[in-house]
Amino acid sequence: MAYSFEDIKDASVVITGSGRGIGKGIAELFIEHGAKVVITDIDADVVKSTTEELSKKGEAIGIVCDVTSEEQVNKLIDETVEKFGGVDVLVNNAGITKDGLFLRMKLEQFQIVNKINVEGTFLCTKAAVNKMRKARKGSIINISSVARMGSPGQTNYSASKAAVVGFTRSLSKEIAGYGIRVNCVAPGFVETRLTDAIPDKIRDGMIDSIPLKRTGQPLDIANPILFLASEMSAYMTGQTLDVNGGLA
Ligand code: NAD
Repeated sequence: MAYSFEDIKDASVVITGSGRGIGKGIAELFIEHGAKVVITDIDADVVKSTTEELSKKGEAIGIVCDVTSEEQVNKLIDETVEKFGGVDVLVNNAGITKDGLFLRMKLEQFQIVNKINVEGTFLCTKAAVNKMRKARKGSIINISSVARMGSPGQTNYSASKAAVVGFTRSLSKEIAGYGIRVNCVAPGFVETRLTDAIPDKIRDGMIDSIPLKRTGQPLDIANPILFLASEMSAYMTGQTLDVNGGLA
C-alpha cells in the first residue's frame, strides 16, 4: 500500500519553542493533520495563548518548559506520555540567536546560544528516546540553519547549528535499530521575531540574494517537518533538508 500522512493522525507530537514563530506554525500544521500536540515554550504567556488558539482547531495541551533544565524536560515528556499515551514525534525547535562580531563576543554569549540550541536538543531527545525505544518507533526532527555554513556575526549560532547536524547524523546511526528516525531541517530566512530585528536595508539585500526572491514563512518549514515526521520519509534518517529558497 502507498505511504501517506495518515500516521500523523492521533500521533503524539512534542514541539519545543512552539509558543510563537516557526514552532507555532509546525504545531498548527500537525493539528490540521489530526495530531495531538504539546505546545511547550519557556514563555508561559505564549504557551497559554497559543494553546488556547490551537485548541479550537484540534487537540493541544500547553506545558511550560525550559529546554536547558533536565528536570523540566523529563517532566515535559512524562506529562506527554500521561496525557497522550506516548511520544511519537519530537521537534527540537526551541532556539535563540545572540549575534555579535567574534572580536567582541563574550564567552557567556557563546555559551548561552550553545546551551539552548545544542544542550536543549540533547536533553529533550534523551528524554523522548527513552520512551520511543520502548515503543520501538519514533521520529525526531532537529532544527539547524543555513547559518551553519558560515554567517558573519554568528560564530556562536553557526557553531550551534552545525553541532545539531553532527548530533543528528551520529544519533541516527545509534538508534535506527529501535525503529527511531532522526532528521534535520535547516531553514533560511523565515519571517519570525528572530528576523524582525533585521534593518530594512539589509533585509532587502537578503531577499535579493534568495533565488526564489522571497522570505520563508513558518508553513514553508512546517511542511518538510511533517514529511520527516510521517512514514512518507520512512527510508530517511540522519539527513538534513535545506529549506531556504535556494539560498545555499
Ligand atoms: P522565535 O524567537 O520566534 O521562537 C523561538 C521560541 O523558542 C520562542 O517562543 C522562545 O520563547 C522559545 N525558547 C527560547 N529559549 C527557550 C528555552 N530555553 N526553552 C524553551 N523554549 C525556548 O524564533 P524562530 O525564528 O521561530 O526559531 C525557531 C527555530 O528555527 C530556532 O531553532 C531557530 O534557530 C531556527 N531558525 C530560524 C530561522 C529564521 O529565519 N527565523 C532560520 C534558521 C533557523
